[in-house]
Amino acid sequence: YIYSVMPLRLVLLGAPGSGKGTLTSRLLKQLPSLSSLSTGDILRSEIQKQSDVGKLADTYIRGGKLLPDRFMATLVEKELLDRDLLHKPFLLDGFPRTANQALELETSLKDKPINLVVELDVPADAIVGRITSRWMHSSGRVYNLEYNPPKVPFKDDVTGEPLFQRADDNPETVKKRLLTYYRELEPIKQFYKSRGVYQKVSGKTSDIIFPQLLTIVNNHAD
Ligand code: ATP
Ligand code: MG
Repeated sequence: YIYSVMPLRLVLLGAPGSGKGTLTSRLLKQLPSLSSLSTGDILRSEIQKQSDVGKLADTYIRGGKLLPDRFMATLVEKELLDRDLLHKPFLLDGFPRTANQALELETSLKDKPINLVVELDVPADAIVGRITSRWMHSSGRVYNLEYNPPKVPFKDDVTGEPLFQRADDNPETVKKRLLTYYRELEPIKQFYKSRGVYQKVSGKTSDIIFPQLLTIVNNHAD
């Protein structure tokens, strides 16, 4: 028989290096109809293109600072419209990350609000080391030299192109990003709790978190 699953509109909430990107690509493999939107990946691709958005973003990102809420909300709304995602299942990685952005997003989505928010609760002590050994490909694919190394050192598994380290993945900037994350977490959590869509998964690694996340997503039917 046929049962209906309401289009999933999922937000992944997690500290820098908590595994949002890794978990996103694992989810996409399991759920081929899902689309993902990562604000970090969008901004990094604008930086590579040296566009006006990229030039602005570069200053903030290098400093470990968040871009202005209004700016990000506009960027995401445009992306959702351009990619025609409003009526399809989607996952947001890296947005919203302030209560204000959550409110802006709610306005953009109108009668199709976010219906699931999962906080990835990874102990902070696991994170800093993980980020400093992180290498990535321009597609957003993430590798970790210790836990998830590429098949050929410093080359992307799919394209064979060189990997790079993010300009903001140094210990000093990471500390700043973590402080910002924990400062913004409470208000955004309260916002989504008040909407009745908030859940949390905990664990040190993506291998531990992924099955929990998948169960929550699979149970998300109406
Ligand atoms: P991760 O390390 O898991 O990728 P992160 O949160 O540190 O997580 P990104 O999501 O890739 O990294 O974002 C990188 C940077 O881009 C942020 O530090 C911030 O400067 C900027 N940025 C991305 N999304 C937003 C947003 N929603 N609001 C404001 N700034 C953002
Ligand atoms: Mg990321």
